[in-house]
Amino acid sequence: MPKELACRKCSALTQGKVCPVCGSEDLSENWKGLVILFDPQNSDVASVLNLKKPGRYALQVS
Ligand SMILES: [Zn+2]
Repeated sequence: MPKELACRKCSALTQGKVCPVCGSEDLSENWKGLVILFDPQNSDVASVLNLKKPGRYALQVS
């Protein structure tokens, strides 16, 4: 399984070189925790983390 990278701006996970959510190329290999978001409108986690789009996110990016 290819290593996933986490976006430093929005924490989205990707296997590519560009963040699929915000388009940033500022990605990190050092991340912890995983949140899978299906329905950001009805998710407490989404509002706490300020996530707007469904997807997979890291909890902590360094
Ligand atoms: Zn991003």
